[in-house]
Amino acid sequence: MKPGRAATFGKSAAQFLAGCVRQTVTVKPHIEPDGSLLEAVKQWQQVFEHNPVMYFMVDPAGTVINVNTFGAAQLGYTAAELIGRSVLDVFLEEDRAFVRACVALCLETVDQSHTWEIRKVRKDGSVLWVRENAKTMLRADGGPIVLVACENITERKEAENALRESEQRFRDYAETASDWFWETGPDHRVTLISEHSDTVAAPAGLIGLTRWDIAPDADLEPERWRQHRAALDAHVPFRDLVYRSKDRSGQPIYVRTSGKPFFDAEGAFLGYRGVCTDVTAAIRADQAEDALRKAQVELAHVTRVTTLGELTASIAHEINQPLAAVIANADACLTWLQRSPPDFKAARRSVEWIIEDGTRASDVIRRVRALAKRSDIEMVPLDANVVVREAVALVQREMASHAVSVRMELSSALPKIFGDRIQLQQVLINLIKNGIEAMDGVHDRPRELAIRSEADDDEAVLVSVTDCGAGICEQAIDRLFTPFFTTKSSGMGMGLSICRSIIEVHGGRLSAVPNQGRGATFQITLPRHREETS
Ligand code: ADP
Repeated sequence: MKPGRAATFGKSAAQFLAGCVRQTVTVKPHIEPDGSLLEAVKQWQQVFEHNPVMYFMVDPAGTVINVNTFGAAQLGYTAAELIGRSVLDVFLEEDRAFVRACVALCLETVDQSHTWEIRKVRKDGSVLWVRENAKTMLRADGGPIVLVACENITERKEAENALRESEQRFRDYAETASDWFWETGPDHRVTLISEHSDTVAAPAGLIGLTRWDIAPDADLEPERWRQHRAALDAHVPFRDLVYRSKDRSGQPIYVRTSGKPFFDAEGAFLGYRGVCTDVTAAIRADQAEDALRKAQVELAHVTRVTTLGELTASIAHEINQPLAAVIANADACLTWLQRSPPDFKAARRSVEWIIEDGTRASDVIRRVRALAKRSDIEMVPLDANVVVREAVALVQREMASHAVSVRMELSSALPKIFGDRIQLQQVLINLIKNGIEAMDGVHDRPRELAIRSEADDDEAVLVSVTDCGAGICEQAIDRLFTPFFTTKSSGMGMGLSICRSIIEVHGGRLSAVPNQGRGATFQITLPRHREETS
């Protein structure tokens, strides 16, 4: 027997366990006359029985010698159910090796306390997290015993896990993003670039530089950068600043960045944090689209002028007709005035006709000028019927000279469309001219062109041009709208392709269908104009 040890055991075990509970518990050292443990166990049991801490005593073989009622209840057992069982039964299979190692460590280091966090399994299989404080004491007979106090830390652990998961989730987002993150200090110099920035297009060697040191356009656009620096100095967030930079291989890239200031607990400004995106592809696509749009506008203009050239004869005729009428009416007017007495009523009527014809001629000139004018697209609400009538007026003579009659079936209840008047006229003139040419070889029936407009449903306006000409052959149907496809000896094959791109810019469709009988129908579908309600 080693009383000294026994005394140490009794006292330090009580202190140890008391230190593991939240409230301070005073435990008198109690040593049995024969130095046995039993009474000490009883005493601890009394002290810890109703304490909200799980408390276990385990022998070197891992058998539970004692457990308090609270501890057993936490695991869904009674104390009697646990005493005598292997302590491993209340741990997950995969954690048991760790438990054994912990017990072994405690046994090797008598009187030293150890702490670890581990999962315990309840009787019903559910799991709770505990922090265990353990220490090996020597019994009066010298045999070791492991005392364990466990605190339920499930809530804290779940909160920690949730936080870790959320951190991991944001790290995953950040690392898989094609964006990179940066931080600048109070002097706006870069202090940090996200770690994965070498997998994205982030420029290298940014640390220590300001944004305007990096951007080669800083000198070219001083006002923009002055505004940006003023925002930074005012410590306000900024959004979507796009500037030029260079990637790691020195190639120019476009970068879009947004940032917000951050401050310490006292409110002192520490710098900015933000995100950068390589927007080179988007900007290049915008530039290409812009160039394409400009090219299309120019092409449309060129073909319009070409069409006008082809229509010169009929336009000249259109103007000549009212001019001839003006001269005839002016002559008549003079005759009425030279009468004795002058017939003022008749003279007045002649002058009115002169005004009407003059207006007609000037209308034709206005339309021709509008078609010839090089203009950017001007989208306005339009009445499709007016566009049709104006286009027909310009090709009236062309139709007459080809012995083509036009039948117009224009719906009177047509919603407005939204578009560029000149471009839509260009499309119609093109379709009408094609129709006239398609009927060139028709000699056995009247050459008739039908132009119809109607509201499709609530959504669209349909305008169609139907001829009774040669029709569209099988091989041609898929290629009509392909640039340079033509079956005409002097055709350019650009008309329909330009028409389709104009209609698509208007958010509509242009399609061709062979007629049931003879000829073909070209149909334009345009979305109706929706008034802004704001
Ligand atoms: P082009 O008139 O210079 O040939 P387009 O692009 O306007 O160019 O027309 C392409 C081709 O589509 C024409 O050559 C012709 O074969 C066919 N096409 C166009 N309109 C009609 C039509 N109304 N009927 C039959 N074929 C047509």
